[in-house]
Amino acid sequence: MSEDDILVTEGLTKSFGDFQAVSDVSIRVKRGAIHALIGPNGAGKTTCFNMLTKFIAPTAGTIRFNGRDITRLRPADVARLGLVRSFQISAVFPHLTALENVRIALQRSRGDSFDFWRSKTALDPLNGRALELLDSVGLTSFAYSRAGEISYGRKRALEIATTLAIEPELMLLDEPMAGMGHEDIDRIAALILRVSANRTILMVEHNLQVVANLSHRITVLTRGRVLAEGDYRTVSENHAVREAYMGA
Ligand code: ADP
Repeated sequence: MSEDDILVTEGLTKSFGDFQAVSDVSIRVKRGAIHALIGPNGAGKTTCFNMLTKFIAPTAGTIRFNGRDITRLRPADVARLGLVRSFQISAVFPHLTALENVRIALQRSRGDSFDFWRSKTALDPLNGRALELLDSVGLTSFAYSRAGEISYGRKRALEIATTLAIEPELMLLDEPMAGMGHEDIDRIAALILRVSANRTILMVEHNLQVVANLSHRITVLTRGRVLAEGDYRTVSENHAVREAYMGA
């Protein structure tokens, strides 16, 4: 593993009974890069993400993060080391304001127990940092709006702000553009670029235009295996990829 690699998997494999959802996947993610994991439905992308964040245990293979073997660590320990998956939208509390959502994420990231009813005064010291985080995702003017009442694209930006509260070194983004219109796609793409200035990003994304515009490196999975890896041009010109993935 080179110093430049923040995440390296070797022979990562996951079986569900007799079925191998992920087979012998070896990926190197370079520090500071935006790396995309793409492939048709059922290719094994989610299963890979679940193994990386330790939601499910690999059947075989190893995962190294910053040179350290994390294959057997628990999800909370991996997050503490700096490998964090962006929360699902369901984890944003719709009745709380955007500011309150980020404040709670900050509170949790500092190891405080998650206390929903904690007195306002105890949370106030976190306001400054929470506002900075909201500003960094372009949500300053929505700080006092309820999370459930802002647009879908802004909710995803809020989700990214709550993830940034944990100060991840490697951020995993799960289909950040799913269900978005053009305007939101442009906004979130700009946000991903901004956020990537001081961290590494690994994302699963179906929108190939977004993948082409943002990614330094792309890994293509099909049927649980790595079919190709490289920059967008290399991957998009690969015959096997065109046949298996792009249907050309
Ligand atoms: P992708 O995210 O690329 O669409 P997944 O990782 O969700 O692919 O799924 C890969 C394959 O593994 C699929 O065929 C899926 O049906 C299967 N699979 C995923 N999770 C399970 C599970 N818990 N039990 C059995 N099969 C599963």
